[in-house]
Order: sequence, then C-alpha cells, then structure tokens
Amino acid sequence: MEDKNEKQITVTSPLLPSLDEFIPYLQDIWDRKWLTNNGHYHQALEKALCDYLKVPYISLFTNGTLPLICALQALRITGEVITTPYSFVATTHSLWWNGIKPVFVDIDPITCNIDPDKIEAAITPRTTAIMPVHVYGTPCDSQRIQEIADKYGLKVIYDAAHAFGVEINGRSILETGDMSTLSFHATKVFNTIEGGALVCHDEKMKKRIDYLKNFGFADETTVIAPGINGKMDEIRSAYGLLNLKQVDNAIKARQQIVSQYRKELRETKGISLMDDISGVRHNYSYFPIFVNADEYGMTRDELYFKMKEHNILGRRYFYPLISDFPTYRGIESAKSDNLPAATKIANSVICLPIYHNLSKLEVELILNQIRK
Ligand SMILES: *Cc1c(COP(=O)(O)O)cnc(C)c1O
Repeated sequence: MEDKNEKQITVTSPLLPSLDEFIPYLQDIWDRKWLTNNGHYHQALEKALCDYLKVPYISLFTNGTLPLICALQALRITGEVITTPYSFVATTHSLWWNGIKPVFVDIDPITCNIDPDKIEAAITPRTTAIMPVHVYGTPCDSQRIQEIADKYGLKVIYDAAHAFGVEINGRSILETGDMSTLSFHATKVFNTIEGGALVCHDEKMKKRIDYLKNFGFADETTVIAPGINGKMDEIRSAYGLLNLKQVDNAIKARQQIVSQYRKELRETKGISLMDDISGVRHNYSYFPIFVNADEYGMTRDELYFKMKEHNILGRRYFYPLISDFPTYRGIESAKSDNLPAATKIANSVICLPIYHNLSKLEVELILNQIRK
C-alpha cells in the first residue's frame, strides 16, 4: 500500500467553537429576535476584539473584502494606489471596484512584503495612497512606508488579513497606517465563518465607516453617502465571541507545528524557510517553503503535485501573482520585469498544511514527502 495517506491532509482546517457552547448563544438570539444591524453580539464582539487586538476602534464586516472597499471610500482615495502583486486577489480587486488604478511594486524577497525602497519610483501626481499587505502575518516595514507616505502626502491602508493578533514589541501591528483591514474567513487563524473588520484610529472615522457599511444611513432619514451593506449578523458575531476564547491556544498549537517543520526542514537542501523576527508576536497563520529546483532536484510544481498524489494538499500562495491575471496584466507596472523578486517567489513557494489540530504524526507524513 506504499505510504499514501488514507486521509487527505488539507492546507488548513477551521477553528470551530464547541457546539455545546454555541447552542445557548443561539437560544439567546432566538429569544431576542434581533438578528443583525448592530445587535447585542455584534457590539460584544467589537468590544472583545478591541480588547484582544489592543486597538480603540474596530468595525465588523460580513467578510474581509468589504472593509478594503470601504476603507478606500472612507478616505476618498482616487487615482492611483501603490500596492503589491504578492497577495490574495481581494487586495487589488478592492482598488478596481473603486475605479482606482493599481500600481504594482516589487516585494522584498526576505519578508515577501512590498519593498519600501521601490515605492518612491512608482509615485506619480495621481498617487493618493499605498496599500501594503502583511503577507503571512509578517510585519511590513511600517516606519519606512509611513515616512514615504508623509513625505508625499499619501494615505496608507494595510491589508492585515493575515496579521490577526500580530504584535511588535507588545504593540498591535494594526496601529500603523491610516487604517487596517482584517479577514475572519473560515481559512484564517481567527474565523467567524465569513467575516472581517476595519480598524481605524478615531471615533469620527469609526462612525463614518459604520454609516458606510449600512448603506450610508446616519439616522432613519439621513443617507450621507452611497454606502453598501457590509454588516455582520448576530449569529456569526456570537460564533466569533466563542472562537476568540480559543484563538490563543490555536496560535500556540500552530507555533509547535512551525517548530517541528523548521527543525526538520532547516537542513533540507534546496528548501528555504522564513524565520521569526525578534520582538514580533507571530500568529503562524501560514508556513511557506521556497523550492530551489536546481538544489532540491525537483521543481516547485513537481513537489506540489507529488505531495498531492500522496493526499497532502499544500497551496501555492501566492501563485499566480495578481499582476499576472488577465484583468491586470495590461497595466504597465504588471510586467514581470518590473517584479522580478515577486515573480521568483511566486514560482518557488508552497504553503504547507498548518492548523491548530494538525497532529505531530501528520506533520511527520508531510515531512517525509519533502525530505526524500
Ligand atoms: C483572505 C484575504 C482577504 C479577504 O478575504 P475574504 O475572503 O473576503 O474575507 C483579503 N486579503 C488577503 C491578503 C486575504 O488573504
């Protein structure tokens, strides 16, 4: 029977609250008969997330894409926005949906985040903002990015979809920039099935975002802007409250898995890894490896499909680059000679399975496929 796993190992598996604990919450929602529109659980989750994430203002959304779209609306961003091609498509789609032209800048191959040294050359008179991504939860060089933004009068909106709970020297990564967005999709470290949030730094902006996510209604008869429906409902808010209680344990479990992976793969020729950055509280949301085909003796895709044959599903996050999708490849900055580092990384990456209850034995099975 060789060593093919009976059970498929997926790249992730959702953190689920206990059903026994969830049922009384559902009963309570049934009793209250208030299902959405800033209800009891919505308010409770916003407050609990502010405490957990150490930020003063957070606005819940029904997914992680609408906060990106609404952040651009709230800050009245137009023209061109500098961003990274190495992300999930939602980052760039949010610009497109606002009629904004994305300008792609290459990444730093060490962090996989936008390379601050390349930003200034991409600024034009039409540039109004920078939209970086903390890819895999690794912090961007926010200080450098802010210096550039201040010099040129640009806003900064971070796509922090991967960076739930990430801190630098005890301070939330979400404090940086003008706003940050989060995703609570089922595949993320903390999930509300579908969900997301927008983090801002003052009460006036929080109010504006809350109007925008509710069709622009400021009160019963006043509509202040062409808003959208981005509200999170009571059931998913309650689910989120329960999941928040166990997210620290889930992150600890992920850290154990990362240690096991690193210990075993550190010496594997042709495979390189990302390291922890000192002073950073990581969330271990992803575990990317980078395959050097010449040294490893197999291309990234050969390894990817070999793992798949053995029922181990890695993911090539982020391949193809956003700039290579037909929607965007006509843009001048999308050309691959403008993006050599991103192109190279996208062609060598595999994210290995990682989730809170991936067992040591399963990690061993995965490692066996990569080491031999
Ligand atoms: C998951 C994700 C989003 C948002 O996704 P939703 O599925 O809408 O919650 C945005 N950006 C990045 C980088 C993501 O990984």
